[in-house]
Formats: sequence, C-alpha cells, structure tokens
Amino acid sequence: MSGTKSPHGVVQNNTEVLTKDRIASRSAVQMFEPMLAQFLSQVEIYYTDGETCFTDGKKIYISQKFASNHPRGGVFAIYHEMWHIAFGHIPIYKALLGNPWEHSLHNILTDAKINEQGRHRINFSEKEWEKYNGIIKVDNVCKILEGNLRKGWEAALQNIPITDTTRAFTALRPFVYKPIELPDGISVMEGEGALGQGFNADIQRETESRIAASIQAAKLRGTTGGSLESELEDIWLKPQVPWARIIAQAIMSRFKREKTWSRLNRKSYFIGGTGPITVMFKGRKKRPIMTAIIGIDVSGSISDGNIEEFLSEIKNLLSDFGAEVEVDFFDTKITDKFELKKLTDMKKITKASGRGGTSYQELFEHAEETKAKEVIVFTDGYGDADNIKVPPHNMRVWWICNTKDMVFPFGKVFYIASR
Ligand SMILES: [Zn+2]
Repeated sequence: MSGTKSPHGVVQNNTEVLTKDRIASRSAVQMFEPMLAQFLSQVEIYYTDGETCFTDGKKIYISQKFASNHPRGGVFAIYHEMWHIAFGHIPIYKALLGNPWEHSLHNILTDAKINEQGRHRINFSEKEWEKYNGIIKVDNVCKILEGNLRKGWEAALQNIPITDTTRAFTALRPFVYKPIELPDGISVMEGEGALGQGFNADIQRETESRIAASIQAAKLRGTTGGSLESELEDIWLKPQVPWARIIAQAIMSRFKREKTWSRLNRKSYFIGGTGPITVMFKGRKKRPIMTAIIGIDVSGSISDGNIEEFLSEIKNLLSDFGAEVEVDFFDTKITDKFELKKLTDMKKITKASGRGGTSYQELFEHAEETKAKEVIVFTDGYGDADNIKVPPHNMRVWWICNTKDMVFPFGKVFYIASR
C-alpha cells in the first residue's frame, strides 16, 4: 500500500485517542481473519505522520493520514500489512532490494493480491472501495505494468491470474527492464528504505512459529477453511526449501561477479520518494563466460514439475546474461543433450524415458571437458556417486535428490519431496 509522496514519517506518540483507535482496528481485523487473530495480537502497531503504511516484518506502521482519510482505513491498513507478513513477503522483498525492477514488480503484484482479498474479506461497499483510489488494485495492475516491460508480456500472463503472485511474478520477471513507474495518482512503492530493515533470520523464525501457532489455534477452534487458509498452511505448516531460487541466485551472483566491466552505463532512477539513485551498469559482455550443466537422471523418479521449477528460475540467466546452459539426460550414459542459449530454446527439451541404472561418470567427465562451472544434478541418488573423481575446485555441484538422507561425496544437496 502507498500514500502520496514523503517516505515513512515519524512514529507518533501514544496518545489515548491513537491507542484506542489502533486497538479497535486490530480487533476488527482479528474478527474477520480468525486464523491470524492470535498472530496479530502479538504484532505491535504504530501510527506515523508519514504518507505510507508499511511493515518491517515485525511491527506494522500505519499512516495516520491514510487511516483517517479512507473508510475503515485503519482496519484496511493493518489488514494489508499483516498479510504481507503472513504471506512471507518480507524476506522476498529483502532479497529483491538489490534489483529495483523485480522488487517493484513483486510489490505491485503482492499489493494487488492483498488489496483484492481485503476488499472482499472486509466487505467494502462499491462506494467505500471507490474511495481507495490511490492504491494498487487488481484492475489497474496491467495498466501500471504497460510500458515498463518488454514486448510479449501480455501473452506470457495469459491464463495466469494476477492474484497468483508467484506464477505471475515468474511469468513477468523476464520482461521487466526498468523499475516500474507508477502513473499519476498512484504513489510511491511501499517500503523503499525501511522495509525489511532489521529483519533477520531470528525474526523470521519467530514470525514463522507465531503464525504456525495461530493457524493451529484456529484449527482447534474450527475457524479455518477456505483457499486463503490452505494457502497459509502450505506456506507455514509445510515449509519447503526454495532450492530452485537458492541455486539460481547463487549462479546468477557468481555470473554477475565474473562479468567484466567492458562498458559503463550510468543511469538515474527515481524510486519512490527517495530521490534519484544513480546506478552503474556493467556492460554486457559478448562472449558467454559461464556454463552450467543440468543433469537429469532419467532412471530416477524426479517429476517434470521439479525440473520445470528449476528451469523457470534460470530463465533469467538466459534472458538477461546470455549464459550457456546445457540440459543433459542420463542413465548409465548421457542419452540426450539440449543446449539452451536463449529463452525459446527451452521449448526444445523433450521428455526422456528412463532405461534403468544410473552412473554419474560420463556426466561429470563431460562437465569437466566443457569447463562447466555449475553442475546441477537431478537424481534419486541411487548411483555411483562414490566413484566419481572429485571435480575441479571452481566447479560447483548441486544435487537435487528426492530420496531422503542420501549421501553424496561432494557438493551441496537439496532434498525434495517425491511426487
Ligand atoms: Zn503493500
């Protein structure tokens, strides 16, 4: 959510009026979100004299002006910020802060989702909702994105609802080429600056356990049910390691680091109310200097979904950096090779069938010959990993394994669920 110009403002003193107002708003939110009621009762809420409402992941800050200028504004603001925390947006925002355009894209999509669900849960009348004209809504997302994305994004977004934030973000991310400029009337990005500041792994763990406890308590009372609730359960009660994101980010940061400064571009961006920020861009190097090999054990029972998940994460490498990625299917030998040099090459990959038996030998010999710096192996782990020669020190190896407790002699292992 956002206000108009200035950033976050000064936290207000606790006058009796302010305190009563916040308590009333908090209780109202707890009434229609019983699943998060317990969690919300533990979140500190403050008013500020600024224009924006925001959260640092632990406390919620509400612009007093916003709260008083909108129908049930305090309730709506608390609702909005509470859901940013509950959906786990804060660590994602924090991770994206170094990339302003992805940050703004994610911010817009998550705001639209939360505002849409808030509109229905709080049950605003048409008339009340019309008064929220300075905020991001599902209806105006496409308008906002126009002109900030490369051609083709509309097709990519087809059949994906804006409110499915993860899918929409994944689909749109390759198309963003500049921080999204908000049209007149809609104001600064939430949280530039303060968002996520002071947020760390300890706060994350504390938040996780509070939300999980709140969900469990609601289940005991029988006050759950509905799609939002099951989405929350997926996030907090069945935690999954975001392995695809972790590997993709690690590869990308290494690739960026190794890129040479062949040309410097200086650009200034206006981000939110913080004034121009000058960014130096590294020039694009023509020759790709990083190769990654993705080995897929066709004898294993890795699902297409897992492989797709990873490929969608590495799309950025292909679209933004011109990295060379090779997908190799293997059983006892490499059975198929697909070279990916651009996004559209991903269509070339066809599903391979397994022939039983697994040997990693040829895959790693091939990786060494081609001087691959990253090797990502999808496997069930039933192979001859112990017999492979230890790879050169500059080759990073990642195992994505769907057999629990399988041990590999080197590299990093992510265990994933079998489907
Ligand atoms: Zn927001």
